[in-house]
Amino acid sequence: MNGTQRSVTVIGLGPMGRAMVGALLDRGYEVTVWNRTASRADALVARGAILAPSVEKALGANELVILSLTDYDAMYAVLEPAEAALAGRVLVNLSSDTPAKAREAARWVAERGAVQLTGGVTTPPSGIGQAESATFYSGPREVFEKHRPVLAVITGGTDYRGEDPGAAALFYQIGMVMFWTSMLSYWQAVALADANGLTASDILPHAIDTMNSLPGFLSFYAERVDAGVHAGDVDRLAMGMASVEHVLHTNADAGVDTALPAAIVDLFRRGMAAGHAADSFSSLLELMKKEKAGA
Ligand code: NDP
Repeated sequence: MNGTQRSVTVIGLGPMGRAMVGALLDRGYEVTVWNRTASRADALVARGAILAPSVEKALGANELVILSLTDYDAMYAVLEPAEAALAGRVLVNLSSDTPAKAREAARWVAERGAVQLTGGVTTPPSGIGQAESATFYSGPREVFEKHRPVLAVITGGTDYRGEDPGAAALFYQIGMVMFWTSMLSYWQAVALADANGLTASDILPHAIDTMNSLPGFLSFYAERVDAGVHAGDVDRLAMGMASVEHVLHTNADAGVDTALPAAIVDLFRRGMAAGHAADSFSSLLELMKKEKAGA
């Protein structure tokens, strides 16, 4: 198969896999599918997808095989019984997991004569098939370039991050740690609002303004922290300490869960104890970083 051939296999028909098959069918691709729960393929078969009767047949149908499973353990569960059919396949694994699991899987796949491209999809199912959505990829560059046209149907953006099969998973996880902690901050704000008789809708404009202010901070700090600069001219940790304690007390007074604000206060206290009171609150980064050997 080459980038202009229009036939592909998709294994895994959760919300993501189904959206991917839909996007490929919409663009005229011939799509062979397989899913543990076969009935999930019904609507796609009605639209023209071919349901393979076995994993072996699904693998045999096309060189390019897209996996959209819960995680890499699910990949082994699906592929191990059919591993003889793996030779010569290009597996694009769009299941999310850790970089270590992605690297281990790339080795496992290579030992069976196939090649893995790791993917980290940064959009929910509604963004699949959209030009503005993006996916991180890593693995052999040549293989990626060859199949890029098909991958660009899944998300218009195909962001190649190098040969390391763990790289795409790493970039995905970097985004996810920000997504989950940011969303938790939002639930905290909504809980605090609720305890004070306000709804999520009442605070929505304020919440959006607050989130919209963050990119400026990220840009401001990136170069400074890369240079190890934590000059506390306008953002001293001691000032932040007072503020995060106000946040904690406001939440405690309102009777809402304080696990999240308490964890933040704890980190600030550790920074103060480490002697960073007069430094920028970016100095907390030094507490969070992995210790470098010999440092
Ligand atoms: P689901 O967890 O709903 O998809 C599950 C798929 O994996 C189904 O096809 C399911 O089969 C299959 N599966 C799970 N365990 C096994 C197993 N042991 N053996 C065989 N098949 C198995 O995930 P989504 O479709 O929502 O997402 C797919 C991947 O994309 C996940 O890794 C997810 O983290 C990632 N992702 C999801 C996003 C989202 O918004 N949903 C956004 C970005 C990434 P069956 O139907 O039989 O249960």
